[in-house]
Amino acid sequence: MPASPASPASPAPPSDIHVRLPDGTLKSYPAPATGRDVAASIGEGLAKAAVGVKVNGRLHDLDRPLPAAPPKPASPAGSEPLDLAIVTRPRADKQGRSKGEPDPDALYLLRHSAAHVMAEAIQRLRPDALLAYGPPVEQGFYYDIALDPPLSSDDFPKIEQLMRQIVQESRPFSRYELDPEEGLNKLRQENNKYKLDNAQRAIDAGADRLSWYVTGDAASGQAASGEADTGQGAKGSRDQGEATESVNASPPSATGPMGPSAPSFEDLCQGPHLPTTADIGAFKVTSVASSHWRGDVHSDRFQRVYGTAFFTPADLEHHLEQLEQAKQRDHRVLGTKLGLFAIDDMVGQGLILWKPKGAVIRDELQKFIMEHLRRQGYSQVFTPHIGKLELYKTSGHFPYYQDSQYPPLILRDQVEALADEGCTCGDLANLMKQGDIDGYLLKPMNCPHHIKIYSSEKRSYRDLPIRLAEFGTVYRWEQSGELAGLTRVRGFTQDDAHLFVTQEQLNDEVMGCIELVKIVFSTLGMTDYRVRVGLRDPRSDKYAGDPAQWEKAQAACGLAAESLGVPFTKEPGEAAFYGPKIDFVVKDVIGREWQLGTVQVDYQLPQRFDLSYTGSDNTEHRPVMIHRAPFGSMERFIGVLIEHFNAEFPLWLSPEQVRVLPISDKFNGYASQVAAALRDAGIRVSVDDSNERLGGKIRDAELNKLPYMLVVGGKDEAAGTVSVRHRTRGDEGATPLEAFIERVKTQVAERTV
Ligand SMILES: [Zn+2]
Ligand SMILES: [Zn+2]
Repeated sequence: MPASPASPASPAPPSDIHVRLPDGTLKSYPAPATGRDVAASIGEGLAKAAVGVKVNGRLHDLDRPLPAAPPKPASPAGSEPLDLAIVTRPRADKQGRSKGEPDPDALYLLRHSAAHVMAEAIQRLRPDALLAYGPPVEQGFYYDIALDPPLSSDDFPKIEQLMRQIVQESRPFSRYELDPEEGLNKLRQENNKYKLDNAQRAIDAGADRLSWYVTGDAASGQAASGEADTGQGAKGSRDQGEATESVNASPPSATGPMGPSAPSFEDLCQGPHLPTTADIGAFKVTSVASSHWRGDVHSDRFQRVYGTAFFTPADLEHHLEQLEQAKQRDHRVLGTKLGLFAIDDMVGQGLILWKPKGAVIRDELQKFIMEHLRRQGYSQVFTPHIGKLELYKTSGHFPYYQDSQYPPLILRDQVEALADEGCTCGDLANLMKQGDIDGYLLKPMNCPHHIKIYSSEKRSYRDLPIRLAEFGTVYRWEQSGELAGLTRVRGFTQDDAHLFVTQEQLNDEVMGCIELVKIVFSTLGMTDYRVRVGLRDPRSDKYAGDPAQWEKAQAACGLAAESLGVPFTKEPGEAAFYGPKIDFVVKDVIGREWQLGTVQVDYQLPQRFDLSYTGSDNTEHRPVMIHRAPFGSMERFIGVLIEHFNAEFPLWLSPEQVRVLPISDKFNGYASQVAAALRDAGIRVSVDDSNERLGGKIRDAELNKLPYMLVVGGKDEAAGTVSVRHRTRGDEGATPLEAFIERVKTQVAERTV
């Protein structure tokens, strides 16, 4: 019954490759055919701009033979066509900047290729460098390299010089494959345990071939041995001969330096890459940091060398300018400069000291959210910062998550008793690890405390939903390398709440939570966020509970996300262990993503704590729990806000809203009267009565990013006016003091951005 989608005029022989282009056109090519053959058959311009090809949604090398589609017996054409799209380099404008949004596929090919070129350059510079892993990342690429002594930024120009040379050599990236046993043998001989491990993992994950990429010609490299060459070399399909020079037949990546006359480099890699090194338009080695094998701090230490690459030098320059601007906006820089917060080593890294100005911002945000909580029928609660280990054993937070927690507080009597029994430190550590000990824990989560408030009374269906809210401070033991200003800390305050609802109330209540997050984001003018619905990965065993309940909870989250009217993604594997969630993710100025607001549905904790309510049928039922936090963490949220506003906070959030600037000390008295009137109206105000000239006072207020300055002199004093100067709007002229006060009060009350 189903007709073949490929219906060429005459049936093609089965050895032909059938492709379907993005516009639906069907074409056939004699096998073997490459993406370049397809591009060339469409047009010369396309072939020139082509850098890769997407086949059935997967990126491929442009010059690699297209895979033969599995034969389909019902199809007269012999096989299902391949969905094929040519990936092209962007077109440049007059200034040499790429036009339009960058194509992520083209950038991926570019940066993956640049990572190989950088690795080769580093190996030329430092033949002892052992390569481990080098992927493209959002802002560029990196390569993890074992190297002693390490590289420093002083080496970057030398690395870049070598990279430039490699790019100029215009060498093709050529793929060859080996079967697993052969491949592993080769890697064993090369003595690179990291690549060996990478290969083993690929095989464990089901790979039936291992692939290498030679920067040069595959046929004269390792693959020349014969059976390994699967024919995907770049030869034949385009002119690449003269630029490639003579290629050294022997040295693989880890065996040593390459002579300048024998450029060849290879790397175990899945690919794909650009056709040649010459397609890399512009690049830069940007930084170096320390890292660990597979991110495990107990494992081998690497240097992670970061770089970035673009198709044009103008694009690279633009990117570097943006980075420079981002540095100026970094909340750690601005927060220190404006005196918002401090971190003191004697208090502890990752523990935030809120200074008076930062505390104002935090307090205003809390008041803002409290207003909405009251409107939505929440009740406020307070709970302590610690709880007994037993509480967290019941909730499941201990001992399973102890690696990310401060160690338990063990009671003195207990430690002494254990010591008397001859318990060693090792024994004690073991008891703690297994959770076979009593004590207290700094709370990693507020949920168990709120659960105990719920269960402190008998509940009926008439009481539900119960919505308990608290600005609750929690503590997590983040690795010191992970700590970053306000965005990753060891103690933070969540604008937390837990809702206890019936199954019937679930959809509406999740919707209400989402509504709250939306209000927060729109009030602050944050429009650049994405929504992620975290679902269970059905293949994983990390998720507790009944699949039927998961289905219901996931459906509720999906519905709520749809109601938002903004794009969202459903991501399997991103759920909490107890239930699905909806996360609001924003980007900071350097492009890192941070999860802020979150709404999570939970069937597990009510079960673990045996929660119940009496239903209308007079029998006991289990409530469903919702965890939600519109800001997420106050610390992280404010960190992101500082960068979002470039510390030019809207009036209602500004630590100092108005500064009065007398034009000379003759008017200090009037300035104080003005300030007193503003203060009485609840406005945060100060007077600059320094000896500085007016110009200097204005500059200082501007540097401190104050929204309003009031310049006062003789005329103002006589008329009872103030001369208003706004941060961005500039001079607004003389205004009666009372009118100015009313204006400010309205803007604050309306939380104008
Ligand atoms: Zn690669
Ligand atoms: Zn919770």
